[in-house]
Amino acid sequence: MRQPLVVGNWKMNGTRESVRELLDDILAGLPERGVEVGVCPPYVFIPQAAAQLAGSSVLLGAQNVADQDQGACTGEVSAAMLKEFGCALAIVGHSERRLLYGETDALVAARYQKAIEHGLCPILCVGETLEQRETGQTFQVVAQQLDAVLGRAGIDSLTRAVIAYEPVWAIGTGRTATPEQAQEVHDYIRQRLAAQDKDVAAQVRILYGGSVNAENASGLFAMPDIDGGLIGGASLKAEVFLAIVQAARKC
Ligand code: PEP
Repeated sequence: MRQPLVVGNWKMNGTRESVRELLDDILAGLPERGVEVGVCPPYVFIPQAAAQLAGSSVLLGAQNVADQDQGACTGEVSAAMLKEFGCALAIVGHSERRLLYGETDALVAARYQKAIEHGLCPILCVGETLEQRETGQTFQVVAQQLDAVLGRAGIDSLTRAVIAYEPVWAIGTGRTATPEQAQEVHDYIRQRLAAQDKDVAAQVRILYGGSVNAENASGLFAMPDIDGGLIGGASLKAEVFLAIVQAARKC
């Protein structure tokens, strides 16, 4: 039985004050059981968020993690640093990193590997662009993104990781995949993993991400292979995020 997981990706948003208020409101409305919840603030707010979340069940995450342990990597933050400041999760391979900052499958795999080595749970994002979907390449693209990581870190690493299927055309666009479209790809991912290891495939959580909101969350989370969500814009409003968390819990 996979415990649902809902993670907020705050992207590059927030101030000290808004972070404090958002976390206060999330903590006040959190269900006691039935769903795991995480938040990924910008790096600079991680110490503040860690202090506020101390003693709660909310998992703290980063929006990326360095592919190296230390040294001449200007602008990067290592897995050990994130651990030291209370992070449990790290998003890797988000499409904004891949498309806006040129992160390749190989770099994403190296980041994922560092998270695993240091006991951070990577949330590996995969997903196709609109053009790739319209030219029938969805499965091929997702398979390539997955294989790059598993080729480096191995299938067993997925016992300590989470996958997020995030069709690029649905991220921040207000255009969500239908539950059936999302389920089709989640099922494909699970079957592809099962070809290597059935137990790992059965237990790994696969989140959906892409314009999830309070209205569409229940339909998506009702699908058998959708184990929760990675939530961008809607995670910045506590009441909407909490409604999505509740929708995951009910399933
Ligand atoms: C995301 O950034 O991972 C995401 C899913 O964004 P949004 O929910 O805003 O589409």
